[in-house]
Amino acid sequence: MGTPLASREAQATEVVDRLSAEYPDATISLNYTNRLELLVAVVLSAQCTDERVNEVTADLFETYTDAADYAAADEDELADDIYGITFHNNKAGYLKSMGETLVAEHDGEVPDTMAELTDLSGVGRKTANVVLQHGHDVVEGIVVDTHVQRLSRRLGLTTEETPERIEADLMDLVPESDWQQLTHLLISHGRATCDARNPDCEDCVLEDVCPSSKLDSDVDLASGEAW
Ligand code: SF4
Repeated sequence: MGTPLASREAQATEVVDRLSAEYPDATISLNYTNRLELLVAVVLSAQCTDERVNEVTADLFETYTDAADYAAADEDELADDIYGITFHNNKAGYLKSMGETLVAEHDGEVPDTMAELTDLSGVGRKTANVVLQHGHDVVEGIVVDTHVQRLSRRLGLTTEETPERIEADLMDLVPESDWQQLTHLLISHGRATCDARNPDCEDCVLEDVCPSSKLDSDVDLASGEAW
């Protein structure tokens, strides 16, 4: 048990196939109704749970309906309006600055290129990838969050460590048609079974092909340390 397929390509295909069967409806779990809401939700979700973000944005999106609303916001008030979100003071600053840039440079619209998105405050490549994929139907890369980082290493898909290098590695490995769904599948499996501290290897659909399986391996390849 716990033996990966002969090549990383075959292992990646097997992972996608099995997780697609397990999580046929895997998709983004943030709530939004337009591109601006998507952008705001993804910025707020950094190091915060999607559930918490959805709780906060239910009211936030009633109050702030366009980029100008964020640009004109009092930063302290905005911080209060997103209280409960991790680093809410910093993120209030990001949202206000982002609103200002959208109004000044993009007619209040959310841009559709990686370069323009990552020029916005609080927007890195991961956030930009999510907005491009779900807001503009543009797939330029693979979203590597903490679940994708952990599971891709555990499953032997990569030995890279940083999100940027993992993304580049996975883009070489996985067909472009699977780039978007790979993220949702790994996040779903990370939440349901393969969590950070105590993965449920006994009840995992990938156990027999996972080189980190606790049933067979002494080492968690995500951290390189003993279980
Ligand atoms: S739950 Fe265990 S067997 Fe399944 S992918 Fe995670 S580490 Fe591997």
